[in-house]
Amino acid sequence: MESTFLDRRIEFLKGVGPARAQLLNTEIQVFTINDLLFQYPFRYIDKTQLHYIKDIYSDGEQVLLRGTIIEFKMIKSKRSKRLVAMLKDSTGFIELVWFQGANWIKNILVENQEYSVFGKVNIYNGKKTIAHPELENLSQSNPKIKESRLDPVYHSTEKLNAKGLDTKARKKLIKTVLSNLHDSDFPETLDPYLIQKLKLCTRMQAVRWIHFPTDNAALNAAQNRLKFEEIFYMQLRILQSKVKHNEKQNGWIFEEVGKKFNKFYTDKLTFELTNAQKKVIKEIRADMGSGIHMNRLLQGDVGSGKTIVGLMCMLLAIDNGFQACLLAPTEILAYQHYISITELLQGVGIRVGFLSGSIKGKKRNELFQFLSHGNIDILIGTHAIIEDPVEFKNLGLAITDEQHRFGVVQRSRLWKKNAIKPPHILVMTATPIPRTLAMTVYGDLDVSVIDELPPGRKLVKTVHKTEARRPEVIQFMHKEIEKGRQIYIVFPLIEESATLDLQNLQDGYEQLEHFFPKPQFQISVVNGRMKPKDKEFEMQRFVKGKTQIMVATTVIEVGVNVPNASIMIIENAERFGLSQLHQLRGRVGRGAEQSYCILMSSYKLSKEAKLRIKTMCSTNNGFDIAEADMKLRGHGNIQGTQQSGVSKFKLLNLVLDQSIIKTARMIAQNILKKDPHLQSKQHAVLARTMNQLNKKQIDLGNIS
Ligand code: ADP
Ligand code: MG
Repeated sequence: MESTFLDRRIEFLKGVGPARAQLLNTEIQVFTINDLLFQYPFRYIDKTQLHYIKDIYSDGEQVLLRGTIIEFKMIKSKRSKRLVAMLKDSTGFIELVWFQGANWIKNILVENQEYSVFGKVNIYNGKKTIAHPELENLSQSNPKIKESRLDPVYHSTEKLNAKGLDTKARKKLIKTVLSNLHDSDFPETLDPYLIQKLKLCTRMQAVRWIHFPTDNAALNAAQNRLKFEEIFYMQLRILQSKVKHNEKQNGWIFEEVGKKFNKFYTDKLTFELTNAQKKVIKEIRADMGSGIHMNRLLQGDVGSGKTIVGLMCMLLAIDNGFQACLLAPTEILAYQHYISITELLQGVGIRVGFLSGSIKGKKRNELFQFLSHGNIDILIGTHAIIEDPVEFKNLGLAITDEQHRFGVVQRSRLWKKNAIKPPHILVMTATPIPRTLAMTVYGDLDVSVIDELPPGRKLVKTVHKTEARRPEVIQFMHKEIEKGRQIYIVFPLIEESATLDLQNLQDGYEQLEHFFPKPQFQISVVNGRMKPKDKEFEMQRFVKGKTQIMVATTVIEVGVNVPNASIMIIENAERFGLSQLHQLRGRVGRGAEQSYCILMSSYKLSKEAKLRIKTMCSTNNGFDIAEADMKLRGHGNIQGTQQSGVSKFKLLNLVLDQSIIKTARMIAQNILKKDPHLQSKQHAVLARTMNQLNKKQIDLGNIS
């Protein structure tokens, strides 16, 4: 491809040169003229408001003035000199001062000339001054150039500033670029009908206005257009790769709703499925019966009953002559699934196997034999399942529980567990993800949502208690234990120091022992450093009701199900993120009793911590909490976003720009529905744009 003006190396831009180019490379990763153009200002100084001198009251205010310099003089002291000029407008006087570059300024200042002046006001002893104002000689300014009154400010670094590449210089460089830019350098990337339909400005306009907006309307138009592009191509690419995927990867067809499924449904299921569960099972069935390879995300708040849904889908696979597997992120969880599913399936005639790192030797080999000969129908386990030696006879469905602990790559390895066609994939997560985030992060997955809890659940009452109220909490615990309830107490994991963690836990445990002495009371302790066997032993003591209190670090965060445990006490609650707190709270409220979540913290809290705790006390809805979490932390920190490209957005904000995201998604969907390969004339521009983008980016299409 021929090199265009924009592709040129930055050193060839007038006013840059090799030395500055080097700095731009290393400091802000600008290598080409194009790179410079696409480093947008991070804020704008509003110069739309002209001020009068008499109206200036506050120290530190940034003001734009227009007036005449009536006199100026150099004032010398022993150590230094400064230039002082007096500016006059129709309402008063103000002093302008320069300490640096005074000589140079003195030479260019013209008495009785009108200037536009911008700077920060300093008021000292009633006297107003502006130091180092920006000056513009109004007789010299070109009336043909409509000056931007929203002044761009660029991110800079000390080194850049020192080498004369501060905001002011950057502005000048961008101006040079823009004035050299021809329409041919800057082809439109959206088809005309789209621009019209969405009422967007042109790409050229957007780039000009993002640097030099003539007014707020122009700035908005520019931002809208550029934000739309950031998300639109991404959506189009994700959805297009899904189209391609569906054409290429035909899936196993599960037509039968057979004996096992029905037997389980009629004989074994002791409760009525919620409507949400039924709806989701229908969606999944339709997927797995369609001939398309399923890639589905199942979202449902903690306790919404995902396991049963997963199990019934596995039965569908088995009824159609296939095997299924269920992966959980920890051994405890996997084993719990194994126990409860084995129990649920008693008498249905299904062989369930368990695999984790701690299954070794003869047992392991035997399991592998069974698996490859089809003598096991359902394999439940940890990451160990995706390891190489594990071979299935015919895996038809792979489910991963609590997806956020699994990486994208690990999911793709599951595909290979069936050499002929990949198994259907169902990803279950209890971490509700705000819709807009799900669209971007899991855009290639179909999403099913269980948005209803089984009936009869009492909402968990959540309260916040400071350390001073501890005695009250202890008393409450005693009362509840007397009623036969069980209690979780969770301590935060301090990532930097595992020793501190244990110390924390140990201290907490000792304090508890004091208030809940043996042998009347029994306490389980579980921490991340224990051997799986020991953890499981302690867990089981609690599950079986032999201990009343379970003290733990976050190992119980996901998936543990002990219906009799009705109180969750979270120590140092301020140390936990919102979604983590919500997950923990989900461990209680599973039985018939009123449940409680008590958030313990010190008295002094940061603003964010206060907000998190307040949110927890005011809502039980996981989606509301996810929204709040995203607002508090910004989208970049939400689980799953790291690998997704979301962090590459320059302007788009997943929290604030939801309507743009939804529009982009909808438009992309509509386009691909009509024209899946962008072959129509109407989409010629889009097709070209996507081609170019695909060349630049690695294809994310095959990882999901
Ligand atoms: P999660 O979605 O958090 O994984 P689980 O699948 O562990 O939730 O279900 C939580 C509890 O609710 C289990 O004890 C399960 O048996 C029960 N459960 C699931 N579905 C229903 C239902 N429709 N009615 C009543 N109880 C249900
Ligand atoms: Mg679960």
